[in-house]
Amino acid sequence: MLVKPPLLSVAEATKFLAKSAVPLTDIEIVPTLEANGRVLAAPQVSQINVPGMDNSQMDGYAVRAAECAGGETRLRVSQRIPAGHVGTALEPGTAARIFTGAMVPEGADAIVMQEACELTKDADGDHVIVRHVPQAGEWIRTIGEDIRSASTILPSGVRLRPQELGLAASVGLATLPVVRKLRAAVFFTGDELTMPGEALKPGAIYNSNRFLLRGLLENLGCEVKDFGIVPDQLQATRDTLRAAAASHDLIITSGGVSVGEEDHVKPAVEAEGRLNMWQIAMKPGKPLAFGEINRNGDASGKAFFIGLPGNPVSTFVTFLIFVRPFLLRLQGVENVVPRVLAMRADFNWPKADRRQEFLRARFNDQGGLDLFPHQGSGVLTSTVWGDGLIDNAPGKTIAEGDLVRFIPFDHLLN
Ligand code: AMP
Ligand code: MG
Repeated sequence: MLVKPPLLSVAEATKFLAKSAVPLTDIEIVPTLEANGRVLAAPQVSQINVPGMDNSQMDGYAVRAAECAGGETRLRVSQRIPAGHVGTALEPGTAARIFTGAMVPEGADAIVMQEACELTKDADGDHVIVRHVPQAGEWIRTIGEDIRSASTILPSGVRLRPQELGLAASVGLATLPVVRKLRAAVFFTGDELTMPGEALKPGAIYNSNRFLLRGLLENLGCEVKDFGIVPDQLQATRDTLRAAAASHDLIITSGGVSVGEEDHVKPAVEAEGRLNMWQIAMKPGKPLAFGEINRNGDASGKAFFIGLPGNPVSTFVTFLIFVRPFLLRLQGVENVVPRVLAMRADFNWPKADRRQEFLRARFNDQGGLDLFPHQGSGVLTSTVWGDGLIDNAPGKTIAEGDLVRFIPFDHLLN
């Protein structure tokens, strides 16, 4: 009797990959303007307070609050302070015309917005009638209220988004230390694969995974080298693996990781390095190969290898679940776990699977989730229709109204 090997759980495979990912140590100093999407290699500390001085949050008048405490108050306008200019100390009994972002003059302790004031051009100079009783501190942004000098503004291991770049710029950081980009190589196995633009011969299909994988890797900040379609032959597969390992950190392939006669990835990786062949308890995407390819001439050097299944939805989902956290870890990212939402299922899923399922679903206007009707591992339409994946535990059915774990693609693709 043939005994099936036990399936590896998604959690076990994830743990194994996390343990194996050795973060890159090469650091580059890049202009902050060009650091979008990069991973910060060292914590950043502010040398300044932000704001650097007490400044006005409104266009209006800077006053002494105590002088306006009695209700409507008439004050002489003694100076005008636009943003970027420095006024003089506020004389008692006067107000300063002031604009948003301008430094509050010494002596003033509140801003009254211009809508609560009336300017009068009198014979003895400009005056303002203040019709609001301000509190001390009103409409003043105080020095250091956003960032205190010597505080850490960004920890190491964050992926820099536009808001992190804005924060770094707000404390004057012109350059940032980042981890060098991960060099990823991809190739695709299968004699049936044809490139869009070429005629489709009988039995052939287009190489959709090429577009999927390149886009996924680019989104996650990798430099991608594409070795294209490799014929289903042992020697060709070995040659490509060796060439890719020479100058890349990670090699990713699609197809050929089942154990059929036409699946040459396994023996090729074993000949060029080391391999773990996994059958993972997940759907879509059961076979997954993880290993290392030796680099020529350097016994210690190696490139990581991950072989994804060929069915496009399996390729996509296994990438998101396994490759994404792995390559983020290699790039030194600290937080690689995607945010999961608890969402209401507006559908029934009565047939439990013994494997962990990743169902394509999308938000509906009622605040719940609809399921794509065809969950086949070749049905790429489901990934375009969907907004994300329901992470459904092994053996679990879903009834309308149940809460499910939903991972939006937005949390996985970047
Ligand atoms: P394999 O893992 O090589 O046995 O392939 C499983 C299925 O995925 C087969 O139907 C292949 O034709 C299909 N497939 C393999 N590679 C690709 C690819 N690059 N693009 C689209 N489909 C593929
Ligand atoms: Mg194949």
